Amino acid sequence: MKHQVNSRLNDIVSKIKKMGYSLTPQRLEIIKIVSESKSHPSAVDVYDKLRKAYPMISLNTVYKNLSLLSSIHEVKEIRTLQNSVHYDGDISLHGHAICEKCGRIIDVKIDESDFKGFFDAKIKENFKENYYINNYGLEFYGLCGLCYKETASD
Ligand SMILES: [Zn+2]
Ligand SMILES: [Zn+2]
Repeated sequence: MKHQVNSRLNDIVSKIKKMGYSLTPQRLEIIKIVSESKSHPSAVDVYDKLRKAYPMISLNTVYKNLSLLSSIHEVKEIRTLQNSVHYDGDISLHGHAICEKCGRIIDVKIDESDFKGFFDAKIKENFKENYYINNYGLEFYGLCGLCYKETASD
């Protein structure tokens, strides 16, 4: 597990350098936080963690770095219905089940070979052309067990 996280960090860092972006200590720290996180943090969550080491950093800098990482497909943006954006450093193929009430985000593991093959075929069938997938979004919206129970007892 530890090895996976480190290699993920190295992958992002080398991509950032290759694309000509500078690697400031703050940027490196943001990449570290996001690549190690399993909890789909918001920008504010990342900012709160970062401020301990970099008290002068602005929330705007955090947003800019997260959208850079998202634009190079190294972080996935997940929108909950409360209109807040969360960030996922785990870019392996998986979906999310999002609770519309409490905003909890649950990872949904998917068999990569089945899923990608299925969508490749479906896109081709509908689009009648080749299509090359760079990124994907697979979100399910509903109620988590806890919120469902609360709603049922209201
Ligand atoms: Zn919930
Ligand atoms: Zn996830």
